[in-house]
Amino acid sequence: MQRSEQLFQQAQKLFPGGVNSPVRAFGRVGGTPPYFKRGSGPYLFDEDDKQYIDYIGSWGPMVLGHAHPGVIKAVQDAASDSLSFGAPTAVETELALKIQQHLPSMQMMRMVSSGTEATMSAIRLARGFTGRDKILKFEGCYHGHSDSLLVKAGSGALTMGEPDSAGVPIDLAKLTLTLPYNNLEAVEQLFAVDGSNIAAIIVEPIAGNMGMICPVPGFLEGLRVICDQHGAVLIFDEVMTGFRVHIGGAQGLYKVRPDLTTLGKVIGGGLPVGAFGGRTDIMQCIAPLGPVYQAGTLSGNPIAMASGLATLTALEAPDFFQNLHAMTHRLTEGLSSLAESAGIGLSTVGQGGMFGFFFSGQGPVSNFEAVMAGDADQFNRFFHSMLDQGVYLAPSPFESGFVSASHTSEDIDQTLEKADGALQSL
Ligand SMILES: *Cc1c(COP(=O)(O)O)cnc(C)c1O
Repeated sequence: MQRSEQLFQQAQKLFPGGVNSPVRAFGRVGGTPPYFKRGSGPYLFDEDDKQYIDYIGSWGPMVLGHAHPGVIKAVQDAASDSLSFGAPTAVETELALKIQQHLPSMQMMRMVSSGTEATMSAIRLARGFTGRDKILKFEGCYHGHSDSLLVKAGSGALTMGEPDSAGVPIDLAKLTLTLPYNNLEAVEQLFAVDGSNIAAIIVEPIAGNMGMICPVPGFLEGLRVICDQHGAVLIFDEVMTGFRVHIGGAQGLYKVRPDLTTLGKVIGGGLPVGAFGGRTDIMQCIAPLGPVYQAGTLSGNPIAMASGLATLTALEAPDFFQNLHAMTHRLTEGLSSLAESAGIGLSTVGQGGMFGFFFSGQGPVSNFEAVMAGDADQFNRFFHSMLDQGVYLAPSPFESGFVSASHTSEDIDQTLEKADGALQSL
């Protein structure tokens, strides 16, 4: 870790915490983050030439693994024709058509450069469309770092106006209502009182930013009904789940159609891309057709579009998601049975190329409160043991893990061998 340590020390003088996005600093688990110089398929190589099996996948985008030849070629070809025009290109339409083919709820869309931009714009659009100011989100769901969405709940009951970050005005935060994930009854009660003031419900249809939590049966369907009854816009934030859990996203998996969808991560294949889209009547409120303003100098950037298009094209291979799902399950089921023999309470979940594991003692984990009750110390020791052995897991119990199409059963089995040792010694 010698070189990573030197680089991290130098970086701390330049970047707050030494990093350009907080979780990279290893704050929760301690230690020095490895500095990477190269990736190939499921493997990463750090500045000290240590090799890792990667289960972060750049936090989701690298569903094909690193340096996928088809994606790299598409990017190189596009780059040789100029890096940006700030004008329409054919490739942005090609990518949009491909997205729409698999997520038909996205009748119209707009490309942006990050997930944060997509969710921020979708919220503004929902407010502009309905003429209402309040929005509802769920405790533990992350929708990027725009002001309206950086709000969490207190425990259990509805809390209003509690910003999650300094710098978010209380008056703005008050407009963001929060409820526990998977609690439909609480949503019904809220709408019975305040429904006519709520512009939108925004939800991760599979939560991935408090560890991974699936919706209980009826939760998403119930949100759909409530939004219809009250004229609120249902926004599925599929920045993480889009083209990651299923070819049709979580909306394809659960067969619930949102009014608006936000995408990011996989649709850029590793370059900065986001998108938001949905019902034509709502999307027509966006400038220049309508009064809701939204714009971007690099939106629809041709290199990023080419990277996304090549990535989504590769996802269309026969049985792609079936194989990915099977590989993810080989990992989660392996972890579960190892934990059981080690006498450790571990609950695991996986869907497509996304997984979660919680040192939760017993029982299912269905909301943020249950996540918080997990054993942080066990997680830390497991994480560091795995990192030492060359397995790169997210450095926080509140992040999802990602398996790529380049992970083989040998990679998974090697990982499980290492996990066995790590779990035995907890
Ligand atoms: C990652 C993520 C975002 C934010 O995307 P950025 O590209 O990091 O701005 C928003 N919503 C969800 C569900 C995410 O996982």
